[in-house]
Amino acid sequence: MAKKLNRCSFCGRSEKDVPLMLNGLEGFICSDCVEMAHQMVRENLKSGRGKDDFYDADKPLMRPAEIKARLDEYVIGQDEAKIALSVAVYNHYKRLRQQALGKADDDVEIEKSNIIMIGSTGTGKTLLARTIAKMLDVPFSIVDATVLTEAGYVGEDVESILSRLLQAADYDQPKAERGIVFIDEIDKIARKGDNPSITRDVSGEGVQQGLLKLLEGSVVNVPPKGGRKHPDQDYVHMDTRNILFICGGAFDGIERKIAQRMNTHTVGYNNVSVRHNIDSKNLLKYIQPQDLKSFGLIPELIGRLPALTYLRPLDREALRNILTEPKNSLIRQQKKLFEMDGVKLEFAPEALEVMVDKAMERNLGARGLRGIVESVMTDLQFSVPGTGQTELTITADYVREQLAKSEVL
Ligand code: ADP
Repeated sequence: MAKKLNRCSFCGRSEKDVPLMLNGLEGFICSDCVEMAHQMVRENLKSGRGKDDFYDADKPLMRPAEIKARLDEYVIGQDEAKIALSVAVYNHYKRLRQQALGKADDDVEIEKSNIIMIGSTGTGKTLLARTIAKMLDVPFSIVDATVLTEAGYVGEDVESILSRLLQAADYDQPKAERGIVFIDEIDKIARKGDNPSITRDVSGEGVQQGLLKLLEGSVVNVPPKGGRKHPDQDYVHMDTRNILFICGGAFDGIERKIAQRMNTHTVGYNNVSVRHNIDSKNLLKYIQPQDLKSFGLIPELIGRLPALTYLRPLDREALRNILTEPKNSLIRQQKKLFEMDGVKLEFAPEALEVMVDKAMERNLGARGLRGIVESVMTDLQFSVPGTGQTELTITADYVREQLAKSEVL
């Protein structure tokens, strides 16, 4: 009597038709089905569908204090902005969870809490947004509001913001729909003057209007740039409800608007400034939504950016800390680079002070520090490898010398 052939419990083929058949307790699986299953598992995990903290109700949410502690590892100071961001992100999580648990039809629906950060250049706005995205392991993209124009004009349409997020998510749409977008230089699309313009304002108010539908949460037709993975599809319909938008801008001169507003109050309420002891050196901390309106943002846009916060200008001490404290600080990076050549690199404390002095002088916030460190270290990075040297200390004199050289050039 012929032997009964085992059949794969998944595809039904018999063992003579497949390369290999594996036995299970109550069935069989062929090697082809194993391969296919493996591929499906990998794809699911890669796109995050198999493991998703947002929707995993058993996983405790990261508390605002924990989020802030993580930010502290990378960003120096800026406590007010960190607290505002931590709370906004925490609420964002809660909102996603409310939806995931099917409670969106609760009588209390949590609204989206997009964020706007005001602060001069190089104070850490982009760094904060980037750190948050990394922490949450969500796709992140940065757009510069100055390149955006109203649809139909030369420049990029606002929808291009979403194309970039889609690219950052490697065209995984569900993942992109939970990403974070940082819109930089939002102040540059302010309308000029407090009154609605009569003539068309291509790059300012029109763009603000265009942003509204993205920020509030709706389905937007997005051209998937390059269309690599969607050759036969013109538009992707992206839902922006769960995308967190973080806007940033320097808002140069907004202090004047704040002062004006506060002065009006001073007159109206019998010299509030004296009673409340106003810190006139740091007026940004009194920023209110109406100041953004005076600056030229339209009220509808301001309304969709409910979390408003500010960043302080970086003082000497902050710059000094930025050089050495963050997990991937510039000095640590230099030490690592030299360590890879077998060299123990040290910086004399005064050497760091000289670099900070230069950064203060250039007035570019922390942005200037990187260039300074590079100009100091490049010659050594060129000459030291291969010399067998094992120790190197950077002195204040050496820093001065290198900086003087880079400035002559
Ligand atoms: P902004 O977006 O406010 O113009 P960035 O976040 O791009 O500034 O900062 C510019 C550079 O300075 C980045 O390399 C960043 O690492 C560094 N930096 C700025 N602010 C801080 C800070 N508060 N702590 C640590 N590094 C900072």
